[in-house]
Amino acid sequence: MARTARIALNRPLRRLFDYRVPEGMDLACGQRVTIPFGRTTATGLVAALDAPPPEGITLKAIQGCCEDWQALPEETFRLLSWASDYYQHPLGECLFTALPPALRRGQPAKARTEAYWKATGSPDNLAANATKQRALLAWLAQYPEGAATRRITQAGFSSAQIRTLRDRNLIVEADPPQAELDSEPTTDGPHLSDAQSQAAAQLPKPADGFSTSLLYGITGSGKTEIYLDYLKQHLSPTDQALVLVPEINLTPQTVARFERYFGARVAVWHSALNDAQRLDAWLKVRNGDPVILIGTRSAVLLPFTRLRTIIVDEEHDSSFKQGEGFRYSGRDTAVYRGHLNDCPVILGSATPSLESIHNAQTGKYTLIKLEERAGKSRPPTIKLLDIRSRPLQAGLSRPTLDAIRRTLDSGRQVLVYVNRRGFAPVMMCFDCGHMVECPRCDTRLTYHRRDRAMRCHHCDYQVAATEICPKCESDAFKPVGQGTERAEDFLAEQFPETPIVRVDRDSTQRKGSIQSILKQVNSGSPCILVGTQMLAKGHDFPGVTLVVVINADGGLFSVDFRAPEQLIQTLIQVSGRAGRGEHPGDVLVQTCHSDHPLLQSLAQGDYLPVADQLLAERETGALPPFRAMAIFRAEADTMENSLKILDRIKPLARGDRLEIWGPLPALIARRADRHRAQLVLLCDQRKHLNRTLTGICQVLDETRLPGGLKWMIDVDPQETG
Ligand code: ADP
Ligand code: ZN
Ligand code: ZN
Repeated sequence: MARTARIALNRPLRRLFDYRVPEGMDLACGQRVTIPFGRTTATGLVAALDAPPPEGITLKAIQGCCEDWQALPEETFRLLSWASDYYQHPLGECLFTALPPALRRGQPAKARTEAYWKATGSPDNLAANATKQRALLAWLAQYPEGAATRRITQAGFSSAQIRTLRDRNLIVEADPPQAELDSEPTTDGPHLSDAQSQAAAQLPKPADGFSTSLLYGITGSGKTEIYLDYLKQHLSPTDQALVLVPEINLTPQTVARFERYFGARVAVWHSALNDAQRLDAWLKVRNGDPVILIGTRSAVLLPFTRLRTIIVDEEHDSSFKQGEGFRYSGRDTAVYRGHLNDCPVILGSATPSLESIHNAQTGKYTLIKLEERAGKSRPPTIKLLDIRSRPLQAGLSRPTLDAIRRTLDSGRQVLVYVNRRGFAPVMMCFDCGHMVECPRCDTRLTYHRRDRAMRCHHCDYQVAATEICPKCESDAFKPVGQGTERAEDFLAEQFPETPIVRVDRDSTQRKGSIQSILKQVNSGSPCILVGTQMLAKGHDFPGVTLVVVINADGGLFSVDFRAPEQLIQTLIQVSGRAGRGEHPGDVLVQTCHSDHPLLQSLAQGDYLPVADQLLAERETGALPPFRAMAIFRAEADTMENSLKILDRIKPLARGDRLEIWGPLPALIARRADRHRAQLVLLCDQRKHLNRTLTGICQVLDETRLPGGLKWMIDVDPQETG
């Protein structure tokens, strides 16, 4: 009997396509093929072999294999199939997420390794006016082993000049230098402290098989040093390791720290790589090269073949959850991968997610504590400053300003955390009460003084800022609330001698990397850093001894059940930037609710008791992690259409084991002129919830929906607004 294959395509379709396997073609699951599709050809992945073909249909034949090996080897294929089912996302799109863009488009799986060039000829053969070409030849002569194209272009020469010299046989391609793949460290890091060694000793070894450890290490306790030491001690020279980090942590500094220990064994994977770099990294992983891959979320999906250790740093970070399309959690997928792969998974954080703490409390994870700072630094002291009856200037109280002044006078640095970029969250008319809203969303426009613009932070709408009220033309038209620009301006007035460094999405977009902005800070001389949560993440600012939180109250009373957890995590992370050097740090948290129990226990300085308090609230509310949650979201041209589809879904979910909230309009009900609604499902049993979701998807796939209506499922949602 002729063989058949089910092919997955990179389309948002919950179905596979049947094809005939031509005589003599050898196929395996996970292999890339080209198939006739409609009037064109498409690149697909073999998802199943010899499933019974549909009756009475003559199948088209597969055109060819892209390579004679599986782009997705078995374990990776199983991981993605699991994720497709768990997150209820079409298998085809899940599988293709694990391919680099070039392979998704059907290009060959060949490394476009950079060419190396060395000089062979003499400049005498060049025309006298070919100065640039002469210069290139002379430059290349310094590198008898050859130099990479990238280095040549970085030195100011062009690819055209390289080609010309090649065509004249004055330079030839050289062999790329052999990467040193043994793990001989070039320099030794600091000796682990006793506390670090004790924590490190509790971590299971690759040979122990699968387990998940939660490394709770306070800010500045030296977790990264533990990871480095662990890999150095336990990862064999032929094995692979994965280190997942939030996007913002993938700074040159982090990579450099790993490279110092592991040299060319270190590879990176993040959104700023170009297609060729992605293909190169992907091929190394797939070929089984003994890489230590430092990567963001999607690195967990790559086709490792010898993966023996998985580390997830800052495991609480919400950037590990994909917010659109295939909404997987990189952290949770990492844990499942460790299980498939039978290797240890280490989750590290100073503020672990409530999910992970719960898993530690129920015995699924092993909790390892590291409650001392590394080196000489001490944990900071956190003080609540009630601002209810205090006059504020640009959101800052008198005692806060005094503390800033004292810190600067003693030659140290200050960090001011503001949770909003721009100048002010809204412009308001004090005559008619008008507030400027986004015409496309149910939100207000943020005032950006630097660009004289009012901008929506939820869509790309913006208008020029006006001096008078657009409604009544009064000039009592004023910014209300605090943004980073306003704090920056005010502090610049108050401390004219002190450099102010603003770090937020706007300033980093304008001035390039956060690294270059932070040069000033790294110099150690007095300055004030003003910024958003970008500043909270993983940075080491040894000169900062005072951290000011302008307003801690945003997350205390939010409708989103995760808001208090995120608030506390941000406050502890940002506080953790203080006193990392020799001098102790202080944190001043301005609040109107200094008697709030969460803030009270935060001021004690320890995260775990606060987390217990938050977990108790979750348990009372029967919220995650005590029940599994999924959200159906719908968006359409009218709210009516969005609600209608969710109303249709609701009866399909009914049953005594499920609790259903909604359908209700989303917190921002209209966004970029789309009307959004949601239906929340909660269940004691994840399996039951998963089966229900599968059933609903089947029904929806067979239903004709009004044009413009989109629906999506978010399993284990990070945002519930
Ligand atoms: P974390 O990741 O826990 O925030 P890091 O690993 O970045 O901490 O370490 C914080 C700082 O302490 C870094 O500057 C690091 O070089 C330093 N450090 C870590 N371990 C030691 C040690 N054993 N001795 C001295 N300094 C250390
Ligand atoms: Zn007005
Ligand atoms: Zn908008």
